[in-house]
Amino acid sequence: MSSIVAIVGRPNVGKSTFFNRLIQRREAIVDSVSGVTRDRHYGKTDWNGRNFSVIDTGGYVLGSDDVFEAEIDKQVELAIGEADAIIFMVDVETGVTPMDEDVAQLLRKVNKPVFLAVNKVDNSKRLENAVEFYALGLGEYFPIASTNGSGTGELLDALVEALPEDTREEEAELPRFAVVGRPNAGKSSFINALIGEDRYIVTDIAGTTRDSIDTKYNRFGFEFNLVDTAGIRRKSKVKEDLEFYSVMRSVRAIEHCDVCLIVMDATRGFDGQVQNIFWLAQRNRKGIVILVNKWDLFEKETNTMKEYEARIRQEMEPFTDVPIVFMSVLNKQRIFKAIETAVEVYNNRSKKIKTSELNEVLLPIIESYPPPAYKGKYVKIKFCMQLPTPQPQFAFFCNLPQYVKDPYKRFLENKLREKFDFTGVPVSVYFRKK
Ligand code: GDP
Ligand code: GDP
Repeated sequence: MSSIVAIVGRPNVGKSTFFNRLIQRREAIVDSVSGVTRDRHYGKTDWNGRNFSVIDTGGYVLGSDDVFEAEIDKQVELAIGEADAIIFMVDVETGVTPMDEDVAQLLRKVNKPVFLAVNKVDNSKRLENAVEFYALGLGEYFPIASTNGSGTGELLDALVEALPEDTREEEAELPRFAVVGRPNAGKSSFINALIGEDRYIVTDIAGTTRDSIDTKYNRFGFEFNLVDTAGIRRKSKVKEDLEFYSVMRSVRAIEHCDVCLIVMDATRGFDGQVQNIFWLAQRNRKGIVILVNKWDLFEKETNTMKEYEARIRQEMEPFTDVPIVFMSVLNKQRIFKAIETAVEVYNNRSKKIKTSELNEVLLPIIESYPPPAYKGKYVKIKFCMQLPTPQPQFAFFCNLPQYVKDPYKRFLENKLREKFDFTGVPVSVYFRKK
């Protein structure tokens, strides 16, 4: 599990400029809490071969100075709770402000690495001025300029040096099932029901990470880690912070799992937030199972389930080959079916198809339905193979790979699904020159 670095500081010191420099073109999660705080951002990056996540805590507040200060304190508190290391950013242009002093006071008590970054040090005059930040009592500081990157290398060197070792590597062999979804969907009830019912549990490993609880679980002759993102609830007076960190925990759980069990509340539907989680899992090429929970609350007629399922699949286009399990944790209905399905999806995701078998099945199909000619040229596919990646990826070797368009790739993907069963698993199809 990669570490989390939080960037804290007053508005306008350059936090988001620095964040954007770190993340560059990578995807960031934006949490908009309009009217209260500025958007908060979460993204992944790496330095010297170490991966870590960065939170730009944002914190622009419309309102009085009091609200302002309270907001910053809250940010810092959350950062202290959630992060492995903290970058405290200040601005050489304005010098030390009372608010900086407040934050410094909070940070001096923290038992985690804190890096004081004096930003906007664009020239030698400012480099001299930066010494005044010693007054914050945080020791050595890093003079940086986020706009052009100067000094940021030294800061990042020191930062990654201080991050805890990644703990995940050695337990990588156990499949990881992440239970994710919106608050109140029934995630903790689901996990409790499973654990409570089952006498094959091997061990409880609580607090392996701060943001999820792993339970080693043994069922159907299959051992796996169940990752519970709901298990830890932090006390916070402010709802949107809880939401944000719960989203962040889901994101991290998704990034590090093999199969996502997306729990949704049947009465709320496959709404925007559930869809965000779904597409995030899909983009990360993870196995997916949709668990429609609280099915007991539904008045059922002949086709209720069918119609409900069809509506979900419509939203999933074009990745519709995903298992959907209707369950009621309350009535203990189909909760083991959910796990069984996750195991199937895991097996689909780790499936390796022999090159000979693959070609035997696909080449005749390709011969009957070759890629359409493009600009009068014919694409000849010679053979294909599965790549040795953790998730299914297939390479098709041909004379003119650039002429094969998406619809044909989708056609081949569908044939792969039809012939070999990749239900619940994103499949990648590549064309290469031969
Ligand atoms: P945040 O509110 O802390 O996220 O601050 P922003 O990243 O939005 O930056 C606030 C302002 O400071 C923007 O106008 C930036 O262009 C400017 N800024 C950020 N970094 C630097 C820097 O290294 N040098 C100078 N001169 N300006 C900077
Ligand atoms: P989490 O935030 O996703 O972990 O959700 P919880 O497990 O805390 O559940 C939220 C609420 O939904 C609780 O009041 C549960 O009792 C309730 N709940 C969970 N599963 C079911 C279900 O299958 N049917 C009904 N009717 N309520 C459920």
